[in-house]
Amino acid sequence: MKPSYGDDSPIAAFATAPGKSALTLIRCSGKGAIELAASVFSKPNELKLAAGSTLVHGWVVKKPHPCGFLTAASRGEPSPLCGSVEYTMLPKAKESRQDNCEKIDEVLVSVFRAPKSYTGEDSIDISCHGGICTGTAVMEALKACGFRTALPGEFTFRAFMNGKLDLTRSESVMELVSAKTDVGRSNAIQRLSGLLEEEINSIKKLLVEVLAGAELYLDYSEDEISAEPGEKDGILPGQNQARRALIQLQKLKAAWNSQRIYQEGITTVIAGKPNAGKSSLFNYLLKEDRSIVTEIPGTTRDWIEAWVSIEGIPVRLIDTAGLRESTDSVEALGVQRTRELLDNAEIILYLIDGTCGISGEDKAFLCKYSGSEQGVLPLWNKADLAPRPQHETKMIALSVLTGEGIAELSRAIVTAIQAQAGKPEDQSNAGQNAISGNAANENTGYGNAAWEAAPGSMRQKNLIDTACTALQEALSLAEQREPLDLIAPLLREAVNALGEITGEVSNADILEEMFSKFCVGK
Ligand code: GDP
Repeated sequence: MKPSYGDDSPIAAFATAPGKSALTLIRCSGKGAIELAASVFSKPNELKLAAGSTLVHGWVVKKPHPCGFLTAASRGEPSPLCGSVEYTMLPKAKESRQDNCEKIDEVLVSVFRAPKSYTGEDSIDISCHGGICTGTAVMEALKACGFRTALPGEFTFRAFMNGKLDLTRSESVMELVSAKTDVGRSNAIQRLSGLLEEEINSIKKLLVEVLAGAELYLDYSEDEISAEPGEKDGILPGQNQARRALIQLQKLKAAWNSQRIYQEGITTVIAGKPNAGKSSLFNYLLKEDRSIVTEIPGTTRDWIEAWVSIEGIPVRLIDTAGLRESTDSVEALGVQRTRELLDNAEIILYLIDGTCGISGEDKAFLCKYSGSEQGVLPLWNKADLAPRPQHETKMIALSVLTGEGIAELSRAIVTAIQAQAGKPEDQSNAGQNAISGNAANENTGYGNAAWEAAPGSMRQKNLIDTACTALQEALSLAEQREPLDLIAPLLREAVNALGEITGEVSNADILEEMFSKFCVGK
């Protein structure tokens, strides 16, 4: 039967990525998880009796044969290569400690007792030695004794179901794992700390009060209630409170513009004629020699991409084949791909080889893309050899060789990103740091100036939109002095949408869909 998210059966999964590493972490959780793991542990009683938040050292062993027999390998003898496996009776005194079983790995087990665990269930984290074989063998032993492999996001799903995390915080766990830059990490941490949950709950509280007031007037006749509806505010009691809620919702809506950039990043394509310095710029921004740089035009025939962080914004940087007509079929295919990438780019860095000057092709390119959706930044490269002409003020004078103009380029990229996101320039402190190829030297620039609540997923943003639209409509009806029985359902719709954001109101299919996008082990 297909496993489903709703049960509490014992599950296990790798919490670390496979590969050569110091440690591999395997996480187990569910009903009877500790007892089950004890059946493949060298000191079963010690593990079974371990208090919560403690460590137990020992060995993961192969589950003994059900009749108490040991395999040849468990006795330290080579396993038979073929034929039937040989079994020997376990000595009586050793039964409680599985010292004679075949050892798989020496491990440290962190024990967590319900409800004081990530999932709210009995859980253990097994720290094994790193590498692919060890972790796989431990996993096999766990599966053999009754654990099933966890579904994607199942640990966090259980944490949500057991009231350990609301939905905004559950989603932030995955955001944190997928963060591409330090600012992305910091934004996710704000949500993990409950900032968005608190903000949503405070808006919801305002609206629930307004709704309760409206329903009171609907349930009782006017003469049973002391004050007339709308005595102070208009037709809707608490209309000003509803307006305050709308302002808070609109702020959240606006905050999504910058958050989205940190989630998805911005696709930036480097284009230009062969030899303009595209691969050199790509390597410079990446701080490593990824793309081949030569004096021979047409070297880069395919595109190559990498993520870099610019002012904390994740930028998917793409180096492309130089744009020129070519009879070489491979190069022509590369040029075709470049054109496709350009059509899907959000920002284009167009390099001009300063030593050759602006060619007809350069002019045609800049003319074609000047009115397009993409932000195009023309760059006069090799300024160390050929200074930018005085009148070309719109071009950034650049030398990838000396680093001249790189800081200006960084500022220009951030400004172009802001223009794409529709965020006013003066809210940014961008451009003060240079571009970084790793997260180490980022500032917390654009979009993260304050510890402010903001949505972190499209799901949250769509529900905020729903709440905003319903509330706007309710307020507009109230201003037109329409009856409360038309207004109250809209207020209810807004309250429900907010409840869905935190998971107070939830639907099983939506939850499964959401958690299935998580990685296994989270
Ligand atoms: P691409 O074909 O556009 O990718 O160009 P490359 O990055 O391969 O560079 C072509 C040649 O120009 C190489 O010899 C680079 O070392 C050189 N080059 C690139 N940028 C500069 C620069 O700013 N100044 C100078 N002097 N040479 C550069």
